[in-house]
Amino acid sequence: MPFLPINKQEMEARGWAAVDFIIVTGDSYVDHPSFGVAIISRVLEAKGYHIAILPQPDYKNADYSDFKQFGVPRLGFMVTSGNIDSMVANYTAAKRKRSDDAYTAGGISGKRPDRAVVVYSRIIKKIFPGSFLVIGGLEASLRRFAHYDYWSNTVLKSILFDSGADVLVYGMGEAQIVDIAKMLQHSKNIKKLHQINGICYSIPVNEYAPESLVELPSYEKVSENKKDYAVAARKALEEADPIRGRKIIQRHGDSFLVQNPPGKPLTQSQMDYIYSLPYERYYHPSYESAGGVPAVSEVEFSIIHNRGCFGACNFCSLAFHQGSVITVRSLESIVNEAINITANPRFKGYIHDVGGPTANFRLPSCDKQKKSGLCKNKKCLVPVICSRLKVSHTEYLNILDKISSLPKVKKVFIRSGIRFDYLMADKNKAFFHALVRRHVSGQLKVAPEHCVSQVLDKMGKPHIDVYKKFQDEFYKITKKVNKEQYLVPYLISSHPGSTIKDAIALSLFLMKEGIRPEQVQDFYPTPGTISTAMFYTGLDPYTLNKVYVPKTQKEKDAQRALLQYYEPKNLPVITESLRSAGREDLIPVFRKAAIRTAKKRNQRTSGKKGMKKNI
Ligand code: SF4
Repeated sequence: MPFLPINKQEMEARGWAAVDFIIVTGDSYVDHPSFGVAIISRVLEAKGYHIAILPQPDYKNADYSDFKQFGVPRLGFMVTSGNIDSMVANYTAAKRKRSDDAYTAGGISGKRPDRAVVVYSRIIKKIFPGSFLVIGGLEASLRRFAHYDYWSNTVLKSILFDSGADVLVYGMGEAQIVDIAKMLQHSKNIKKLHQINGICYSIPVNEYAPESLVELPSYEKVSENKKDYAVAARKALEEADPIRGRKIIQRHGDSFLVQNPPGKPLTQSQMDYIYSLPYERYYHPSYESAGGVPAVSEVEFSIIHNRGCFGACNFCSLAFHQGSVITVRSLESIVNEAINITANPRFKGYIHDVGGPTANFRLPSCDKQKKSGLCKNKKCLVPVICSRLKVSHTEYLNILDKISSLPKVKKVFIRSGIRFDYLMADKNKAFFHALVRRHVSGQLKVAPEHCVSQVLDKMGKPHIDVYKKFQDEFYKITKKVNKEQYLVPYLISSHPGSTIKDAIALSLFLMKEGIRPEQVQDFYPTPGTISTAMFYTGLDPYTLNKVYVPKTQKEKDAQRALLQYYEPKNLPVITESLRSAGREDLIPVFRKAAIRTAKKRNQRTSGKKGMKKNI
């Protein structure tokens, strides 16, 4: 189906004098189900609403002509920063301005404002004060309570208050947005909206009727008291469970932020329906001259088969946004999408991914989760696998097999993260063998993240022996099938709990295993995670015990350099770290590693010069 209009001319070409909703986004417009805007707009379109998309409007132009071009929408505005938080999109973990943006046409940075949801919302409320405004997407969802903001190093109010929006939709939002549209269509009584699950709204303290619910420490309290902040972070996550989550309030001055219980996870037929909508699966043609939107290349030939995650890594915000309940599409729906992909003239025979937040989850964690939600004081996979966890890859393997057997499909790869501890817990090794034989495209990215047990405990990750067993098995099967492929382990430096001694231990582990990480991620305190609460408060929200937090740039640089122990340029920083940790004995070991790299590089350079000479 044609792209939805992104400007007045395209709206008029459809014969529309006005639209029902204008969706304002910080991303370029990509009509692919990996983009929240594409899903929300197609869901509303299918219900008969007229939708315009306003991607990356000019927010600096004083007459706000981009915002005004469609006129006043009949029902309201919807605002999102796009697929990721605008501050994460605009800045690195070291708070440096990024030079590119994969979600913008041409990959250029600077098209979306910092704090995009607040900037766009305030403009809309200024020029259309009577319009109804809904905010949603990742930025709004993860900033729905008072939250620590790494970039300003302060606790900010719920984004609902800072934006001036009428309603905040949290989570994936399809069901809520349809309910909101229906209510706006049929009733002028905005208060009726307050019955919808999966939304937040505000209410003056003196109008609030007390009821049985969860109250978080107020914005004022969490701004002043770190223990209150840690308690609030844990409670908010606990109540994000779609099965047992309750209504939450949090006072901000004279108002309460009210969060209704989470929306129910979609059923399989609802999931199938959403992914069957007529997406163009590409960027809007107006971006062609700029070279297109880079993020499309990752997803154009990829399929999402599930949502949700019960993995509960502390540095991940997924459970706080999508929820911990796994919802899956049917085999037929996934295969139909694959067939559609094969009809694309750009398709070269390779499905890049059949994945989701965690590629190999298709079941609820256990029967208990289905009835009463995830356990509050226990995790399903760490520090050891829960005895009640259901583990199976049979259905996932069947899906991969069916897609692989389609005409025109040469290979089906898995690029989304595989939860390797879950994989190792499966006694049936058929999937592991199939993965190694057929579904790795040269490199398989996995996420052990660290090797020191007390750091892994703070991350919510399994201990390193599980990874080592997985690694051994992976290479054993790889050798057996005579393939050349590698594991690429993801590691995080300077996560709360990681001391310089822990970073040295990780460095020695990598050296011993022959792992030379080319990319290393510094811990990035993004909104809405338990790890960010640890970073800010120095407390573990689950125990309220103190946690060591590496915060100075000097220590962060040192922890990062240790992970790339083989880099000659890192040797001075590493040497200083070893001295400060009282491990001078290791200096020769690291020097040797750096010299080895330098020698290899010299040999390669002189080899090339020699080749040139010969030519
Ligand atoms: S019983 Fe075990 S598998 Fe089930 S939710 Fe609790 S921790 Fe997870």
